[in-house]
Amino acid sequence: MELEGRVALITGAGEGIGRAAALLLAKEGARIGALGRTREDLETVVGEIRAAGGEGAVLVADVSIPDQMRAAVEKLAAEFGRIDVVFANAGINGVWAPLEELEPEEWDRTLHVNLKGTFLTVKYAAPHLRKRGGSVIVTSSVNGTRVFSNTGATAYSCSKAAQVAFTKMVALELAPARVRVNVICPGAIETEIDENTEKRDLERVRTPVEFPEGHMPLERRPGGPEQVARLVLFLASDASSHITGTEVWIDGGESLLKG
Ligand code: NAD
Repeated sequence: MELEGRVALITGAGEGIGRAAALLLAKEGARIGALGRTREDLETVVGEIRAAGGEGAVLVADVSIPDQMRAAVEKLAAEFGRIDVVFANAGINGVWAPLEELEPEEWDRTLHVNLKGTFLTVKYAAPHLRKRGGSVIVTSSVNGTRVFSNTGATAYSCSKAAQVAFTKMVALELAPARVRVNVICPGAIETEIDENTEKRDLERVRTPVEFPEGHMPLERRPGGPEQVARLVLFLASDASSHITGTEVWIDGGESLLKG
């Protein structure tokens, strides 16, 4: 097992990509701190981990609230004695709307969850990671890094672009402590995230873009959370011991068409 003895903090672990990563990393021996806002979802995931013979802890916190994140990280470190892997994955699409209609509070909410949340997650885990070295994986997106045609998703794309800069800044800062920091950029992945997106009046601002038939060149379908989880496992494990400060796109070639 590739992560035997390690402890992994995973945010947004109750659903989607975070859930798939929690299950896979646990299967590979990691003890999991499953963090999110919805206790019920987290308990289900940790229940699945335990049923398969693994270990996990439920951490209810909002990634954008400093006190909650500090407390959650300390709770995990106290329970399992260490933190080796951090998957800063929780995120929202937020409100997608024309520039003039996007309210300042809506902008703030998206940036707070996606960008400040990443900062807080890594900031509070850093002292623990520094003790033995470790791996941080941040979830960005093709949006804001290769794709700029989802007009209206401005706050989202800016938050995702900034996560890449955050990754590179922190990768250099933590390298002397042998902490690697990388960022994954998924394309369309089948999760519930779209259901929680508020889209307003996008027809008014969208530039029509025509793609060739089927816009996923490699597999002709969106990716699955389990496919993303395998990338997270690679970046979390010693198999990627010389990789830091880099983006990895995981999108079946989608962003090569949509740039
Ligand atoms: P999801 O909605 O299925 O899961 C996200 C999880 O994060 C949920 O459990 C949610 O409760 C949690 N979360 C949201 N806000 C939170 C907060 N403030 N504090 C704590 N937890 C919070 O979404 P997903 O598709 O698995 O997305 C995971 C990450 O992947 C996000 O950062 C998203 O931007 C990114 N992403 C997703 C796709 C996609 O197509 N699904 C594509 C590119 C990037």
